[in-house]
Amino acid sequence: MSIIKQLQSQLRKKERSAVEITEEYLGRIEELEPKLKSFLCVTREEALATARQVDEKIARGEDIPPLAGIPIAVKDNIVTKGIPTTCASRILENFVPCYDSTVTQKLKDQLAVIVGKTNLDEFAMGSSTENSAYGRTQNPWDTERVPGGSSGGSAAAVAAGECVVALGSDTGGSIRQPASFCGVVGLKPTYGLVSRFGLVAYASSLDQIGPFGRTVEDTAILLQAIAGHDPHDSTSLKVEVPDYTQYCTTDLKGLKVGIITETLSSGLDSQVADRVTQAVKELEKLGAEIKEVSCPRFRYGLPTYYIIAPSEASANLARYDGVKYGLREEADNLLEMYTKTRAKGFGAEVKRRIMLGTYALSAGYYDAYYLKAQKVRTLIRQDFDNAFTQADVLVCPTSPTTAFKAGEKTANPLSMYLSDLMTIPVNLAGLPAMSIPCGFDHQNLPVGMQLIGNVLREDLLFRVGYAYQQVTDWHTHTPRL
Ligand code: GLN
Repeated sequence: MSIIKQLQSQLRKKERSAVEITEEYLGRIEELEPKLKSFLCVTREEALATARQVDEKIARGEDIPPLAGIPIAVKDNIVTKGIPTTCASRILENFVPCYDSTVTQKLKDQLAVIVGKTNLDEFAMGSSTENSAYGRTQNPWDTERVPGGSSGGSAAAVAAGECVVALGSDTGGSIRQPASFCGVVGLKPTYGLVSRFGLVAYASSLDQIGPFGRTVEDTAILLQAIAGHDPHDSTSLKVEVPDYTQYCTTDLKGLKVGIITETLSSGLDSQVADRVTQAVKELEKLGAEIKEVSCPRFRYGLPTYYIIAPSEASANLARYDGVKYGLREEADNLLEMYTKTRAKGFGAEVKRRIMLGTYALSAGYYDAYYLKAQKVRTLIRQDFDNAFTQADVLVCPTSPTTAFKAGEKTANPLSMYLSDLMTIPVNLAGLPAMSIPCGFDHQNLPVGMQLIGNVLREDLLFRVGYAYQQVTDWHTHTPRL
């Protein structure tokens, strides 16, 4: 059952106060952080102040919004007024935003209890949270392993029970891959469903903010709170947001589920393949019709993404120049100041992306790389369009492997990039997708199944995900810490 709903019912019945709940989670953070390092900053005072407001509201007999009093963590590339927002980068070490992102403002409007800001790969570039300038986060299931990335801190915090739900961002898999590695649910919404205002831009045509939770219903409640049109984000969609929890039902009759043929072939860990295949059988038992669907150009997602994302990043990161934000290295002239600041402020992976992107966009190479990548992006989108004429929801593994050991892939960027093989095409096509726990491998590491929907069909992801969680108990397993 939804943890949010359980806590809300306890609050309404006055069985527990919001301050008590908040203290409990803050206590757990204090106990576990030395081991996990999910957080870059814990906002104890602010959290307790909000909790007290919730308790006062309840005492006055007023109704409370769905997220009131619920401990929630926010990825540290989402700006929070008066609270440092570092993007896990030295260049923003002392940056304290003077405004709130639309999503955090919406959380505050509901009196959600923000307990802190979570660790990530610097500027969300990475798949293991090892690219953080402030140290790596440990996977709660095995602290020698990575939690995935880039939203590794948020995924680990939810898995370890340091918060009930969390926000992450997903440009190429950064919500779904860590959700899969940490055994929690993670959802990347349709591009444009959630405002990006106040999300520090990495690759603007791909970035989306989305929820993490242990149960599908919790992610539905959190998405409900943050979705919707925002005049501050020109890419935000003008659509009615449905009541997502109404789709949390157990009947999948008549629903066509398509397994993406190309994803179950080579390069995939056999245990991952096995767990996902088992999960699909469960969906069949729930009434879904299972078929195989081909997306022949799915595999071009990775090379396409590694042209488009760095290109956009190289433009987006031009703003960190020692003048407008954060770090500034003094020098004799302006150019030298820029150079020294950026050399010192950015980590190796960020520099690699800036160089790749600058190269791909430069005159003479633009047509060969960037323009071509955009064309392939369209082809990938067409494969999905075609697939959705045959199936309502597509499934595949979230990641080719379970969580890998820290340090295992840091020396080889390509092997690191490969862990987003299954998630990247979804961002290129702007589609919604969810990673949901579907078992464990022989080392007791969680495996994730990815459900992909057509544009704005989050309802179907909730339907399939919820039904699956009613007949399985993977999401009730907790790491021993
Ligand atoms: N791992 C991918 C990258 O490094 C995706 C990151 C993300 O989704 N933010 O770009």
